[in-house]
Amino acid sequence: MTDTPDQGQEPTPEEAVHPETAAVLGGRADGELSLAPVLYPTSTFAFDSVDEGRRLATSMAPDRFYSRYGNPTINAFEATIADLEGAEAARAFASGMGAVSAVVLGICSSGDHVVAQRQLYAGTQLFLQTVCPRMGIDVTFVDGTTPGAFAEAVVPGRTMLVIAETPANPRLDLVDLDDLGSIANALTVVDSTFATPLGQRPLDHGVDLVLHSATKGIAGHNDATLGVIAGSQDLISWLWGFATLQGANASPYDAYNAHRGVRTLGARLRQQSETALLLAGFLEGRPEVADVRYPGLASHPQHELAVRQMRSMGGLLTFDLARGIDAGRRFVEATSIARQATSLGGPETLVCHSATTTHVSLTPDELEASGIGEGTVRVSCGLEHVDDLVADFGRGLDAAGV
Ligand SMILES: *Cc1c(COP(=O)(O)O)cnc(C)c1O
Repeated sequence: MTDTPDQGQEPTPEEAVHPETAAVLGGRADGELSLAPVLYPTSTFAFDSVDEGRRLATSMAPDRFYSRYGNPTINAFEATIADLEGAEAARAFASGMGAVSAVVLGICSSGDHVVAQRQLYAGTQLFLQTVCPRMGIDVTFVDGTTPGAFAEAVVPGRTMLVIAETPANPRLDLVDLDDLGSIANALTVVDSTFATPLGQRPLDHGVDLVLHSATKGIAGHNDATLGVIAGSQDLISWLWGFATLQGANASPYDAYNAHRGVRTLGARLRQQSETALLLAGFLEGRPEVADVRYPGLASHPQHELAVRQMRSMGGLLTFDLARGIDAGRRFVEATSIARQATSLGGPETLVCHSATTTHVSLTPDELEASGIGEGTVRVSCGLEHVDDLVADFGRGLDAAGV
């Protein structure tokens, strides 16, 4: 919860409601009668007196001062995410990468060390591989699925940050959140984008910061680009100080769309998870398919961990076509309801053939090293009727061939 002008008032005790309910109720100002969140597109606010100006200029995330510092629309979205994540505070950013770069550059200095998992969103991986070395920040990559791998790579006194993503690109590998949260001598951060705040709560496991590309499931309609980080008030205040200078603050328009999206996240996530499980089961039974990865399938190598730490298995799945690169191309060209696009978490089902799109520059060996086969297809399940999707995928598989 970000600071409000009513410093003297005790915060009302958290209502004991389910997260889906909290998502609907969150972030509404007391006494506000508009049921939709209110959009304040303004970049700045007038203040009544010198004293008021001084108070605003010296407070954390003032909601009516200057919108790079804070804004009622953005702060309301942040308060909702903080609530859903069980965090004291949250800060929104212009994109998921704005959030990733703020965590790394806001916390680490030249000479510091970062431990990160090998299975990561490509933008995060590139940031760690190209920007960090230029800043004198060393990064060690580990296999996030190996128990204890993060803790072993921590160098006491030098490692500032441990970065994990779960479920992770591209093969929906999971990181054990209890294992990660038990690391005490470095700050831990989880990119929880694929799970959404209703799918898992990393802070409950002792993790220090949780991060989302809110562009994805949180905003949920492919009409906003923003990111968000939640954690303790101390850490978010520190990151807020960096963020006001970094300048990758969220736009009020995007925060408005994201807050609009959060209110239906429960229903969307439930539907998308149900569709993903049905589609995964359908794909598993087809001869054109060599392998299906979905945390909700008993065949997922970390299914027990998924059941232990996830409330919902999410709408993302990955599968491998037996006949490789040509089959992948034929599959995505033969589907018509499922569109070819990158991104995820929206109403439209999206398919992406990694070897000819996101990872086109890699050799077959490099593809294998990053867990991507020539026939790997990533699916973001949307909100269409599952029978229509099964028919569409059936057409794609017929075209892919056995
Ligand atoms: C998309 C994504 C990001 C980056 O978010 P942007 O909003 O595109 O900057 C980071 N992590 C994960 C897991 C993502 O899917």
